[in-house]
Amino acid sequence: MEQKRIVVVGGGISGLTAAYYLQKEKREKQLPLDIKLFEESEHLGGKIETVKHDGFTIERGPDSFLERKKSATRLAREVGLEDQLVPNGTGQSYILVNNKLHKMPTGSYMGIPTRIRPFLFSSLFTPLGKARAALDLIKSKQTVEEDQSLGLFFRRRLGNQVVENLIEPLLSGIYAGDIDDLSLQSTFPNFYALEQEYGSLIKGLRKTTSKTPRNKPKPSMFRTFEGGLETLVNAVDDQLTPGIVQRNTGVDHIEKKEDVYHLLLSDGTVEKADAVIIAAPYFAAQRMLSQYDFMDLFNDMRATSVANVAMAFDASAIKKDVDGTGFVVSRNSKFRITACTWTHKKWPHSTPEGKVMLRCYLGKPDDQEVIDRSDEEITKIALNDLNQIMNIEETPEFSVVTRWRDSMPQYSVGHKDRLNRVIEQMGAVLPGVYLAGGSYHGIGLPDCIDQGEAAVENVLQYLNL
Ligand code: FAD
Repeated sequence: MEQKRIVVVGGGISGLTAAYYLQKEKREKQLPLDIKLFEESEHLGGKIETVKHDGFTIERGPDSFLERKKSATRLAREVGLEDQLVPNGTGQSYILVNNKLHKMPTGSYMGIPTRIRPFLFSSLFTPLGKARAALDLIKSKQTVEEDQSLGLFFRRRLGNQVVENLIEPLLSGIYAGDIDDLSLQSTFPNFYALEQEYGSLIKGLRKTTSKTPRNKPKPSMFRTFEGGLETLVNAVDDQLTPGIVQRNTGVDHIEKKEDVYHLLLSDGTVEKADAVIIAAPYFAAQRMLSQYDFMDLFNDMRATSVANVAMAFDASAIKKDVDGTGFVVSRNSKFRITACTWTHKKWPHSTPEGKVMLRCYLGKPDDQEVIDRSDEEITKIALNDLNQIMNIEETPEFSVVTRWRDSMPQYSVGHKDRLNRVIEQMGAVLPGVYLAGGSYHGIGLPDCIDQGEAAVENVLQYLNL
């Protein structure tokens, strides 16, 4: 049978997953496939990047994935890493509102209360705010055909206070975006479905989520690997036949010539392919296919930038500690950091005994300028904020600052519709070209892995294999 050439563009987790499952299919079904993956940088793994320093394991990008979404654990098992999976340490988490830490009410799911008592006794809301949230139990549902913003939806169901003091900080922690701009359809369509089915988010969640028995520790929801997330990247890379992955090779342009795709590479050569998986961000895809007007639909998409700083201390440097795993910051606070993880508590394996690792995020949607500050300034800003709640007398033993420019694709209202239009036109004009990754159908690592797997299925179907 004639060899079919498949090119994967981008060596982040989405592209690596695609290459891995393509190779698996090739081996198991003896398919005539020639697989190549081009990654423009030296580094494989995209936003996954782990550094080791003085016995610490430090994540520059994501620190874990949701265990509930099965594709990441499945991939780990595939590449022989199941026994290296580590669950997160659980403990109290906090929300910083009006420059003060408040405990996250027990039983809240993405900020929506599922238990009444902890919510009633929470210091996060005024009696009026609590009464307004309780209206969710009786307020009639609203059926809306089009997309709507998360902010609008949650404000209607639970009121402004619960949104500002709980839901917004939690969601910004995930999407680094503006809740009043983010799409309900593309982020949490299940909440809309709950409203439609149960007439109330609180009732719906109480019916559909399992309860942790009182006095039992919270279950661990996240997983990483003993050696950090890059362990997964390296294990997938190790499984790929040498020659598949080509680093330092960007794809600058893709041109369709009859039934063959010609990919112009950054070294000036041309690679031919029968099918292409673009596992790169939307703006990179747009650049590669700039001659196609339908890619202009992505002009309405944006990506925000974030920075983070991981700071190592001796435990004795923390004069006033807080018992917990971390906090997120509400936008009404004067803090410039948006979240902080007590990494030594959330991931004890990552920090040597007697040491502390604090990792702070910066870069609110209206404070993007902070990303351009020097490492020293970013560290100072983070420490100044932390000192308002903790009392840290010494400077860090070392710190690792990471800037992620245009790294958080924003699923703004209408995202799903826009994306579907791009995909539809791509299917018509560029059959055999598929998009996968954090810019499209979900930003979490398992979502990206799902997309890598789905792209493989699409390609094989397109090639009749
Ligand atoms: P990327 O990782 O962006 O990979 C794309 C790759 O394509 C890159 O390597 C890039 O160099 C390459 N590329 C681009 N253009 C070209 C081209 N023209 N030619 C060749 N190669 C190209 N998710 C979680 O589940 N848990 C978390 O804890 C979490 N935390 C996060 C923290 C941060 C700071 C960030 C930024 C994201 C976080 N996320 C988290 C989200 C998650 O990390 C990303 O959505 C995911 O890693 C994206 O993977 P990807 O393969 O789609 O894209």
